Amino acid sequence: MKVTFVIEDALPNRWVGPEITPHLWALQTEGGRCEAGGQAVMSSATYPNHASFVTGLQPVDHRVMVNRVWTGSDFVSSASVGPVGETVFEAARRAGRSTAAILGDHKLIGVMGAQDADVHWPPGGVRPDVELDEFRYATNQAVLDAYDSHHPGPGAVDLTVVHFNDPDTACHIHGPDSPEARQRLRLADADLGQLIERLRPEWDDMVVILVSDHDQERVWGDGFDLSAVLDQLGLPGTVEPEGTAALVVDGPDTETLLGLEGVQGAVEVDATSTLVWGPAGQVFGPWHESLHGAHGGPRCRTQVAVVGGGHPVVADLAVSLGRRRPSAIDWAPTLAALCRFDLPDSTGRSLLAD
Ligand SMILES: [Zn+2]
Repeated sequence: MKVTFVIEDALPNRWVGPEITPHLWALQTEGGRCEAGGQAVMSSATYPNHASFVTGLQPVDHRVMVNRVWTGSDFVSSASVGPVGETVFEAARRAGRSTAAILGDHKLIGVMGAQDADVHWPPGGVRPDVELDEFRYATNQAVLDAYDSHHPGPGAVDLTVVHFNDPDTACHIHGPDSPEARQRLRLADADLGQLIERLRPEWDDMVVILVSDHDQERVWGDGFDLSAVLDQLGLPGTVEPEGTAALVVDGPDTETLLGLEGVQGAVEVDATSTLVWGPAGQVFGPWHESLHGAHGGPRCRTQVAVVGGGHPVVADLAVSLGRRRPSAIDWAPTLAALCRFDLPDSTGRSLLAD
């Protein structure tokens, strides 16, 4: 069996259908999907969820709670730290399985520990010299080109992870429900179709899992400055804005935070950190007013969860997806079960364990 795990960054589950995502729709027609969608871990940001995809751990365990990681004194790029806990790349290697990671967001190499894959692109997680999108991530076409030039072929690798960034960029710029974003989602689906064509020669042996890491919601304004609010009130805390959520470290207690302007919900993440979010439309700043979509809070937790491919086990996965909404932490143990390696520290539940 060969497994291809594809992430379409920020693809909204509500737009999965024959009109906007015909290739994805065809994939789920021969396999299955969770109609209600999977569930992101919080914050509903890209790096916490990708760290969960590869470790099967909650953010409190892999420590990537927002896109940057708190070191005890500072927030630093999670790409330079990586997740705490064993990744599927390390675990697969331990069991003699081969892996590849072709990732449109170069920082995901570090975030996912993908430098431990047998093949990874872009090398070293450095921004590649290819066609880049508006946010300077590799375009979907560049990812397909990298697949062609770096991947040994669909029959030659046990577990392949592919990340397409384009839907996230499009939804940030235009807002996730805009006609412009939907048009870009159609183009991204055509790119997915091209990847699926590359897998066809091994189809009978192939399991394709396609997910998104989070949804997006429409936002406006130049960003709500929670840090300034704490300062004005003489309250402690370091604020890390994460789109429609923010992480407050060493700040006031939850009750005090819930009493603040711009804070609608709060959950204690660990002894020192609280994740907060605001009302619909509010993004934590600083923020570029020209960007109309964001994510981070609980309204963006819905993920796409689709399975397809020609291998007989696809039917079992489809039944499981029909029964329950998978969490982001359930995919790593599912990949481990499919590719027959152990991932003992994962707290997720394999879809094959149902
Ligand atoms: Zn994003």
